[in-house]
Amino acid sequence: MEQKLSIYNTLTRTKEVFEPLHAPHVGMYVCGPTVYSDAHLGHARHGVTFDLLFRYLQHIGYKVRYVRNITDVGHLENEEGSGEDKISKKARLEQLEPMEVVQYYSNRYHKVMNDLNTLPPSIEPHASGHIIEQIESINEILKNGYAYESNGSVYFDVEKYNKDYDYGILSHRNIEEMLNTTRELDGQDEKRSKVDFALWKKASPEHIMRWPSPWSVGFPGWHLECSTMSIKYLGKEFDIHGGGLDLMFPHHECEIAQNTAMEKHQVVKYWMHNNMITIGGQKMARSLGNFITLEQLFAGEHELLEKAYSPMVVRFFILQAHYRSTVDFSNEALQAAEKSLSRLLESYSRLDKLIVSETSTVDIKDIRQKSYDALNDDLNSAIVIAHLCEASTTINSAIAGNISLTKEDVAELKDLFDTFLFSILGIRNETASAGNNEAFGKAVDLLLDIRQKAKENKDWATSDQIRNELAKAGFEIKDGKDGAEWKLK
Ligand code: ZN
Repeated sequence: MEQKLSIYNTLTRTKEVFEPLHAPHVGMYVCGPTVYSDAHLGHARHGVTFDLLFRYLQHIGYKVRYVRNITDVGHLENEEGSGEDKISKKARLEQLEPMEVVQYYSNRYHKVMNDLNTLPPSIEPHASGHIIEQIESINEILKNGYAYESNGSVYFDVEKYNKDYDYGILSHRNIEEMLNTTRELDGQDEKRSKVDFALWKKASPEHIMRWPSPWSVGFPGWHLECSTMSIKYLGKEFDIHGGGLDLMFPHHECEIAQNTAMEKHQVVKYWMHNNMITIGGQKMARSLGNFITLEQLFAGEHELLEKAYSPMVVRFFILQAHYRSTVDFSNEALQAAEKSLSRLLESYSRLDKLIVSETSTVDIKDIRQKSYDALNDDLNSAIVIAHLCEASTTINSAIAGNISLTKEDVAELKDLFDTFLFSILGIRNETASAGNNEAFGKAVDLLLDIRQKAKENKDWATSDQIRNELAKAGFEIKDGKDGAEWKLK
């Protein structure tokens, strides 16, 4: 590998040089959505962050197996693991089969992830399709003495585990603190300690998603699916496990405990967490009325939105920040992102029209390595974008005639955009696909040529007509010394 990537490992809390266990192969597991409602901005940040990692690892030569699960069972309403199953509840309220709910929201999730130009994972396993494997995991944990059965349910024995290993290794919480802060919840009388969590729950009569097991007819706990499916598809030791920072505790802490209880060693080498998106400084929550789904964002249909924002603007907005810093959503910030992105795309489109010189008056050679350095430093997409803006300024200066560039410079600039903006940052060139394609561009250029001839012949009527009609159709025409340029308003 020519490029040496360093990533921040949440487990060790240090930036580490990425050394895969079986190079050039990389195993990467990312916690996917619970499919009972539409994806929102948080899903977008999560999807885009791990898409960037997936794209970059492949770009620098790794063969990546990217597993992202679909949670379709056992995710209870209450984050601590009580209440009704979220999907069952939706199915009951809407009188649907639970798998209809799962399919409906999975399709919608895939649609918005595709809009955001995230690449599909290599494997997308469903929790409900891995009940047998989860029962095997529970048997293994029981056999090793870190779980107990109680009234048809099976719980993980956190205190017992903590005597042999370290429960809290990821989130840096200790058991005493957890015992003091954990609320009393249902199923409490069945548990030895209130910090214990369910591996298997006996189903109550109204719980419709249920499977037979050695302990009861019931369903697996939410944390178990990720341990079971990551090990099934990536092995007993694998490279990267990712997710949103909100999953670090209890979900990922429980995963580590389950993994270690089964395998007697750490399974995951690097834990990575993306930070959250806030809205006007506040956490997103349905109760606060600031919960914006991606579909609403793309359509501009929410009272907090001044306009619609295209998926690429949203993607660019997310990538303008480093994934470990918080991002605050506002109309202002999104409109600024929209402007920056359109400036970048515009200068890229002007590259073809640039008149080259024999010699260059600027040195653009280090932009490439500086962009790689930024990515190698824990995927700093914000810095990469700053370097692309620098490249864009260079293009604009050359067009204005303030500096000169050679043919090789122009090829290098084009390749910088192709490599970093389109291929690694995953921006889709929407101006190119949405109408500004080659044939379309040629037709507009032809009209502007006719207008130029009309002007030379002092046929002002024709020249004005072309200009005015194009303006009415949504074009902005700028007259320069090398002829007219156009763009869509
Ligand atoms: Zn998970």
